[in-house]
Amino acid sequence: MSRSVLVTGGNRGIGLAIARAFAEAGDKVAVTYRTGEPPEELAKLGCLAVRCDITETEQVERCFKEVEEKQGAVEVLVANAGVTRDQLLLRMSEEDFGSVLETNLTGTFRVVKRATRAMLRARKGRVVLISSVVGLSGSAGQANYAASKAGLVGFARSVARELGSRNITCNVVAPGFVDTDMTKVLTDEQRERIVKQVPLERYAQPAEIASSVRFLASDEAAYITGAVLPVDGGLGMGH
Ligand code: NDP
Repeated sequence: MSRSVLVTGGNRGIGLAIARAFAEAGDKVAVTYRTGEPPEELAKLGCLAVRCDITETEQVERCFKEVEEKQGAVEVLVANAGVTRDQLLLRMSEEDFGSVLETNLTGTFRVVKRATRAMLRARKGRVVLISSVVGLSGSAGQANYAASKAGLVGFARSVARELGSRNITCNVVAPGFVDTDMTKVLTDEQRERIVKQVPLERYAQPAEIASSVRFLASDEAAYITGAVLPVDGGLGMGH
């Protein structure tokens, strides 16, 4: 059965891998991109690319209208778009803190709120939020990012409680370190230090996050809601 899927931040990294996984399984997939042009691969996969900055409510509204017109109301939402703005606490400006919260947490609120409108009418829907292992473990230099990713857990669990009676599930995937642009900024030394702490002794590939997202959106996961699924090579064990 082909569903209408929307992945935010689907033009690269983990979001692109998620879009690929759903498209290859036969779903109708729309992705949002914020800057530049979407990669050619998306057109080859038959995905719809919609420009949208999730910090702008009007752009979110316009994006959903376009997706609804072209592939039907969103049945599966993957809120993946996210940013980092790392800095030690004493040097972190309110701007650094607020802008990360605005994208990662409030931006997710915006798209989930908009998507669940139609899901409520349809009395079914799947929402998957991309958090991070550091939302649970904390991370020096990432107080803003960790707070935003921890916030997603409370948010998801509240949505799961509110909308469970309408057959809408809301779950969180918490990746560890994944090979994408976001982690390319780390030095070889930092990378080595991280890998030493990961029981599986390597980074994840984006496709390994995508398969968990697809599982949580599948019929097999119909009874899973409010869950946090770590996909982190064992890095966060105990949280
Ligand atoms: P990338 O930096 O490669 O991609 C981030 C994506 O988010 C891009 O598509 C970007 O769009 C989009 N985005 C950023 N800000 C906005 C905005 N305001 N509105 C709309 N889209 C926006 O990141 P990853 O693929 O690595 O990460 C994807 C998600 O996974 C993020 O939420 C991240 O926090 C999380 N994560 C990543 C980990 C990792 O190790 N890489 C580990 C744990 C979690 P554009 O290209 O236009 O800037």
